[in-house]
Amino acid sequence: MESQKQYKPKFSFEFFPPKTLEAVGKLQMTTERLARLNPSFFSVTFGAGGSTRERTFETVMDIFKKTGIDGVPHVSCIGSTVGEIKTILDSYIEGGIRNVVALRGDLPSGSISGGPLRYASELVEFIRRETGDHFHIEVAAYPEFHPQAPSAQKDLENFKRKVDAGADAAITQYFYNPDAYYRFIDSCEKLRIDIPIVPGIMPIVTCTQLCRFSDACGAEIPRWILKRLQEFGDDRVSIQKFGIEVSTKLCEQLLANGAPGLHFYTMNQSEASVAILKNIGINTKD
Ligand code: FAD
Repeated sequence: MESQKQYKPKFSFEFFPPKTLEAVGKLQMTTERLARLNPSFFSVTFGAGGSTRERTFETVMDIFKKTGIDGVPHVSCIGSTVGEIKTILDSYIEGGIRNVVALRGDLPSGSISGGPLRYASELVEFIRRETGDHFHIEVAAYPEFHPQAPSAQKDLENFKRKVDAGADAAITQYFYNPDAYYRFIDSCEKLRIDIPIVPGIMPIVTCTQLCRFSDACGAEIPRWILKRLQEFGDDRVSIQKFGIEVSTKLCEQLLANGAPGLHFYTMNQSEASVAILKNIGINTKD
């Protein structure tokens, strides 16, 4: 974990583009509340094949305009042509955006065509080739390994390809076992990967939602957490309280062991992230 210690801890928050006017209003309240924590950036997800293209762009620009905090768009390459990706990048350059999260993305089930850029490393290479050093590029990292990776070692090597292609930093898939992160960082150091790798934190809101996401992305929910969540049943208040306790402890441990920051998967809600940050002593100004 040595090389991770040189960075001052940073905090960031992730949103998905809202679909309805009501959801737009809710997200605005969330970003206003989280902006008071003075995060490094707010990132906004992108649907594979450009399915949220306009909404990702509008959400990023709106957040930047209303909060003054950097809005960071996710851009995924699967299912898009290089022309489409170049148009997206040009629109962000024109809008004054200087950071992106570069991803492969996942094809919706039933789709066959992947597009010319098959992996995130090829997208990073493309962004560097087309736009030089304009963008600070974040990529995804998987302490518990990507579900499609043939082996842990191959996944690490594939992660290194993204760094070698020009990624500046990484955000991890969420996890609840900090040892997976520490081991991942140690393996990266052995491969001479020295970019900041920020843990992704998923506050627990409901058991069903967490199980659904974790099934899809391959994140492990430790048995002791699952058992407790199942016991709470529909008692959302107890689940949230327990979830905040679990994530607070995790965040404290990660920062104490040199993690360079925390990235919160907010699900467009502020309560859990604010509570966790308050518990670990970040001034929430509330
Ligand atoms: P890659 O880094 O390309 O890796 C995908 C798989 O391919 C891995 O198994 C890897 O080992 C393998 N691989 C990589 N390179 C090679 C190679 N050269 N040869 C053979 N195998 C290779 N999804 C969205 O659709 N929209 C989002 O906005 C979004 N945001 C995300 C943000 C974060 C922080 C994270 C962690 C994930 C996000 N995802 C998002 C999910 C992500 O798109 C999926 O996990 C996807 O399956 C992989 O994307 P990647 O960029 O990690 O892919």
